[in-house]
Amino acid sequence: MNPAQEPYYYKYNSVANVVIMFEPMLTEDQRKLRDDVREFVRSVPRQLILDMDADRVQYPRDFVREAGRRGLLGLRFPAKYGGRGLGWKDEIVAIEEVGVLGTSLACAYVMPSIVGEALNAFGTDEQKEQWLKPLLSGEKVTAEALTEPRGGSDFFGTTAEARREGDHYILRGQKRFIVGAAKSDFFLVYARTNPGGPPHQSISAFIVERGTGVEAEYLYGLLGTRGGGTGRLVLRDPRVPARNLIGQENCASEIFYRMMIPERMTSAAGAIGMGRAGLEVATRYSDRRKTFGEKIRRFQGVSFKVADSITLLDAARGLVHAAACCVDANDDPGRCRRLVSEAKKFSTDAAWQVINHAMQIMGGIGYTSVYPVERLLRDTRLIMIWTGTNEIMDLIIQHEYYRELLAARSQVRDTEADAPEAQRTEEKVYE
Ligand SMILES: Cc1cc2nc3c(=O)[nH]c(=O)nc-3n(C[C@H](O)[C@H](O)[C@H](O)COP(=O)(O)OP(=O)(O)OC[C@H]3O[C@@H](n4cnc5c(N)ncnc54)[C@H](O)[C@@H]3O)c2cc1C
Repeated sequence: MNPAQEPYYYKYNSVANVVIMFEPMLTEDQRKLRDDVREFVRSVPRQLILDMDADRVQYPRDFVREAGRRGLLGLRFPAKYGGRGLGWKDEIVAIEEVGVLGTSLACAYVMPSIVGEALNAFGTDEQKEQWLKPLLSGEKVTAEALTEPRGGSDFFGTTAEARREGDHYILRGQKRFIVGAAKSDFFLVYARTNPGGPPHQSISAFIVERGTGVEAEYLYGLLGTRGGGTGRLVLRDPRVPARNLIGQENCASEIFYRMMIPERMTSAAGAIGMGRAGLEVATRYSDRRKTFGEKIRRFQGVSFKVADSITLLDAARGLVHAAACCVDANDDPGRCRRLVSEAKKFSTDAAWQVINHAMQIMGGIGYTSVYPVERLLRDTRLIMIWTGTNEIMDLIIQHEYYRELLAARSQVRDTEADAPEAQRTEEKVYE
């Protein structure tokens, strides 16, 4: 086709081509990784995105298989299991790129990284061979079953139970909103093994294979993030071999805290890609659409929304990068928890605001299925809720900040004393 005749959307159909990444912050290897992921993202058929959004697909298995074939899954894990032995600083670069495809595909892409964390950090060599390897090759797909009908925020209130019987556990309970419930080959399930015991010493984590007694009984009608087979998983006494226990019995709190890093880092990094996708569509539109004889980008009401959006995304990327550095450096666990939570909260809030701006910039047409902004809007509404709501992120952030501040032995400077009447201790009344 003669480029001059190309429809507009062919010329600009690849959001991944645009460079808004912190170019100087990337190493040569990270640029290469980003370019490989961009090539993968470009290869994803448009029809898959449409079919998933229309719930004509229940899980994008081919997409995951292809990511595995290209060696792009679970980048942090050792090469002997199919990873690349990289760090979070690298993985966030890849996840941002996949994020431009929307939440459903990004979620399918990161699930091996999430469930893989439990296997890699707590699993035995046999478990890694049996479960981690096929996950990273894209041969098997998995899901994380944590949330229950009684609630997702209060993890330690888990009511699903696992009872030991010889060399098996018998599981009973329900898990809700599980992406991949419909099609996953196996699930990472948390269940109570010490009923009545202290909450932090009562829960265990298991790999549970799909089969008798493990069923997706209801698939949810979702606002967005469709095509992932999100359902209610019912465990009706499946016999799970004791060798499928991950880590020690009653010690899943350690696994849970560890898993919250990939859960939230992946949400945070993917959100930037989603925001980017919407912003690019809207920005290009504003450079073509005219009202009152002017391109709408000439109106501050429009162009300042672009400015606000790009600033939000760059700030989010900075925070996600800082969190990645903190985790990679094995920094204080509380500080890592705070930064990861800040990154998840800020990044997902930012993506929502950016997509909302994009829709406003585009006026009525942005609300239609002529442009993908309405899908991105439906998608991004979820990311402030899942992997821990942003209120739960606030809970963690303030908790860790108080803990760190009040435990500090010395201050950089006693700034409280820098007030003219600072010595008036009789006025400093606290009770
Ligand atoms: C489409 C979709 C996909 C999902 N995928 C998965 C998955 O694959 N696996 C999985 O395990 N889960 C999954 N989830 C579940 C998700 O993580 C939970 O919905 C989320 O953690 C919130 O739990 P909840 O819905 O039970 O809300 P609740 O815990 O009932 O919370 C309700 C409201 O109360 C607020 N709240 C609760 N406690 C506090 C508090 N202490 N302080 C302040 N505010 C509070 C919350 O922020 C929220 O606004 C998914 C959810 C959806 C909708």
